[in-house]
Amino acid sequence: MSGSETNLSAGTSAGREVGGSASMRRRAEPEAQVERLTEERDRARAALQSALHERDRAHAALQDAERRKDELLAVLAHELRNPLSPIRSAVQIMRMAEGDQATTAAARTIIERQLKHLVRLIDDLMDVSRITRGKLELRTERIDLAAVLRIAVEINRPLLESRQQHLTIALPEEALVVEADTTRLAQVFANLLNNGAKYSDAGAEIRINATREDARVSVRVRDHGIGIPRDMLERIFDMFTQVDRPQSSPHDGLGVGLTLVKRLVELHSGSVYAESDGPGLGSCFTVRLHLASAPQTEADRLPSPREPPQGALRARILVADDNHDGAQSLALMLGMEGHDVRTASDGLEALRVAEEFRPQLVLLDIGMPKLDGYETARRLRERPWSRGTRLFALTGWGEEEDRERARRAGFDRHLVKPVDPELLSRLLDQALASGRG
Ligand code: ADP
Repeated sequence: MSGSETNLSAGTSAGREVGGSASMRRRAEPEAQVERLTEERDRARAALQSALHERDRAHAALQDAERRKDELLAVLAHELRNPLSPIRSAVQIMRMAEGDQATTAAARTIIERQLKHLVRLIDDLMDVSRITRGKLELRTERIDLAAVLRIAVEINRPLLESRQQHLTIALPEEALVVEADTTRLAQVFANLLNNGAKYSDAGAEIRINATREDARVSVRVRDHGIGIPRDMLERIFDMFTQVDRPQSSPHDGLGVGLTLVKRLVELHSGSVYAESDGPGLGSCFTVRLHLASAPQTEADRLPSPREPPQGALRARILVADDNHDGAQSLALMLGMEGHDVRTASDGLEALRVAEEFRPQLVLLDIGMPKLDGYETARRLRERPWSRGTRLFALTGWGEEEDRERARRAGFDRHLVKPVDPELLSRLLDQALASGRG
C-alpha cells in the first residue's frame, strides 16, 4: 500500500513534473485543435455559403431562362398572329368585292405584303436557330463588298421607294474584297438597311459608307431616325429585344433581325456595334470585317443575272402533298400559268397518278403519309420513263443534310416551303427548256 503510495507519490511527483509540461501540451493541443477545427469549420461554412450562393444563382438563371422562354413564346405567337388578321380581312374583302378589280387588287397587295413579312420572320427564326445549333454553313467566296451591298439595296428597294427615302452609298475606289458567304453577308446589310428605313421617317436620308482600315473594312449604315437609348445599344442584339417605344411602328418586327446580324457577322470573324446620340437623333451600325489577304482580280463578281422567264412552255406537272390546301393552291397557280396539273395526297397515290400521267415535273412534299417523299422519289426514279422527269422536293427543312438526302433519293431540286412563286416559275422554265434541249 505504502509502496503503492510511494510509487504513487513518486509517480505523482514525477508525474507532476512531467505532468507539468504534459498538461501544458495537453492544453496546447486542444487549443491548436480547436483553432484548426475552427478554421476548418469556417472554411466549410464559406464553401457551403458559396455553394448555396451558386445554387441560388443557378436557380435564378433557370427561372430567368424559363421566364424568357415564356415571354418568347408569347411574343412569337403574337408576332406570328399579327399578319394573319389583315390576311383574313383581305380574303373577306376579295370575296365581297368580286368583280371590283381595284378593291381586289388592293386586298391582294395586303396579302402579299403580310405574307412576305410572315415568311421573313420565320426565315430569321430558323436562321438563328441554325446558327445556335451550329448548323449554318457558310459558302464563302472572294467577293467585292460593293456587290454584296448592291444585293442588300436591291432587297430593300421596294421599302425605300414606298417610304420615299434617299439612300447614298460611299465606297472607296479600290475593290474591298472579303472572303464571305455573299447571300449571308447581304442578309446582314439588308437587315441593317431595313431597320434604318423602318425606324426613320418617310423621306429621310440613309447613308452607307465603307472605309478601309489596314487589313479591315468598316461598313457604316447610318440613319437619322428615332435613335436608340444608350442603355439599349448592346442589348438590342439580344434575341427578341426591342426598345420600348410609346408608339409601335407598323413595321415592327420580332426583335430577331439584329441577333441574326450579330451572329452572321461573327461567323465571318467580324464584329458589329451600334451607336446613337439618343432618342430622335438617329443610329449608326458599324460592321467590321477582315479583308481577304491576297488581291484578286475577278473577285468582284455578282451572282449571274436572272434568266428572264420564258413563259409559254406548257408541262405536265404532278403535285403531291398531304396538306390538301397546299397541293390545291400550288396546282391552281400552276394551272393558271397554263400547265396541265394533277395532285396526289400521299406517296402511293403519287406513284399511281405518275404511272398513268407521266409528268415532266413532280413536286413532292417530303413528310407524306404511307410513303414519304424520299421513298416516292426513289421508286419514281426506278421507272425508265422518269429519266427526263424533273423531281423537286418541297419541305420545311432546308439544312444541308436534308438537301443531301434529297439528292441521294433522286431529286433534282430541294425547295423550302413556302416556295416563292417567281422562283418556282423560273425553275420550271429552266427545267422545261433544258428538257427540250
Ligand atoms: P425588329 O424586328 O424589332 O426590328 P431587330 O433585332 O432588327 O428587330 O432590332 C431590335 C430593336 O432594335 C428594334 O425593335 C428597335 O427597337 C431597335 N433598332 C434596331 N435598329 C434600329 C435603328 N436603325 N433605329 C432605331 N432603333 C433600332
